[in-house]
Amino acid sequence: MIVDYHTHTSLCKHAEGELGEYVQQAIAVGLDEIGCSEHIPMPDGFDREHRMEVHDYYSLYAPRVTELRERFRTRIAVRRGIEADFYPGTEEWVSNFVRENDLDYVIGSVHFLGDWGFDNPVFVHRYDEQDVNEVYERYFDAIGKSASSGLFDIIGHFDLVKKFGYRPTRNMKEIIWEALKTVRTHDLCVEINTSGLRKPVGEIYPDETILEMARQLEIPLTLGSDAHTPADVARDFDKAVSLAERYGRGRIVTFDKRERKEVKISRLAAPHGALNH
Ligand code: ZN
Ligand code: FE
Ligand code: FE
Ligand code: ZN
Repeated sequence: MIVDYHTHTSLCKHAEGELGEYVQQAIAVGLDEIGCSEHIPMPDGFDREHRMEVHDYYSLYAPRVTELRERFRTRIAVRRGIEADFYPGTEEWVSNFVRENDLDYVIGSVHFLGDWGFDNPVFVHRYDEQDVNEVYERYFDAIGKSASSGLFDIIGHFDLVKKFGYRPTRNMKEIIWEALKTVRTHDLCVEINTSGLRKPVGEIYPDETILEMARQLEIPLTLGSDAHTPADVARDFDKAVSLAERYGRGRIVTFDKRERKEVKISRLAAPHGALNH
């Protein structure tokens, strides 16, 4: 069994391609399941430029997933997920949104520290204007809080704070261990997210020292490409599968209506590089 649970489409205004193209690509590379995890709509125009509106969810996103799920039922499982932001003050809104919709899974991601969209290339200069150690501490503190919020199933790109290659000078191991313990206590899973390989840091999220700690805590893993274009579906999954073999006992988890199941991982039938890119 092999899945890609982290993808975006043009609905979020910073990705390209329509969901049908993602599903076609997923079938071409031999995935058993493809999950769309469009960025969740947020209240009060929060970060509106990078996400769909609530009415887009109901008129475009939700029905399109249902339609494709039916159409390709015999060839691939199409899951309806969402990538929700953890942002203090919006928990109730997110909780209501998730409760009102029949999602297969919810990825919880930290993209903001205060008003700083720290993973947005436009604001990368702000890393130079503060203590990177403190940025990392605030980030992993937020990850721990996101895990104890009870809102999510999967912790997205666990060490996203490294995206632009800014590294702490202090050892973060203890802080990361605390965050992972919270993930374990709240019975969440962590995704192996290959998109970091396509970013300045050039590394999968999370790195192997974190995956080793996750292994010690027996935290389940799942897989995501964070594709923002159809060609990136399952990108670099040969590496992701190797990591799941090493740090997840060769197992990943899948979701159906927010029910989690552990399955044995398999390699892609059609190696990704053999396709059109
Ligand atoms: Zn995105
Ligand atoms: Fe994200
Ligand atoms: Fe994403
Ligand atoms: Zn993401």
